[in-house]
Amino acid sequence: MSVLLLNASYEPLAVVSWRRAMTLVVAGRAELVAQDGDRVVRSAGGAEYPWPQVVRLMQMVHFASMRTPVPPRFSKAGLNVRDQRTCQVAGCDERGATVDHVIPRSRGGATSWENCVLMCQGHNSRKGDRSLEQLGWTLKQRPAVPAGTIIASPARREEWARWVAPAFTTA
Ligand SMILES: [Zn+2]
Repeated sequence: MSVLLLNASYEPLAVVSWRRAMTLVVAGRAELVAQDGDRVVRSAGGAEYPWPQVVRLMQMVHFASMRTPVPPRFSKAGLNVRDQRTCQVAGCDERGATVDHVIPRSRGGATSWENCVLMCQGHNSRKGDRSLEQLGWTLKQRPAVPAGTIIASPARREEWARWVAPAFTTA
């Protein structure tokens, strides 16, 4: 059974085997965050541990190699997560109800993570086909591809939704 491995910050890192997860827990390098039903793992010495479903590292790791190299496919759902459903124009707290192309499509702007941001209805309609520079607007952050996708079965995808947005899981 696969186990979701979270960084100390609760950010999803990888999917690992339950053996790997147990090794981390027993060694004190990870803690159990969610148990898989009420099943237990019995060690050779007879000790019982809850069967892990989600574990979290005790110390923050930064190695990029644990991420799946596959960038998530662009989607509105993913954009909602990345931009936290909020208009990305600096200083605006309105709901990001629309997808704006930073470089307008009419000027060859792509529909991509790097060129799309959420904007509120007002900002999007005022922007039209103009560039941010023309308007003197700045964005809260530079639009970027979100971190890699976590591979999960459809059942796991639901169970792990608390830690990984479904837009960032793939079967
Ligand atoms: Zn706005």
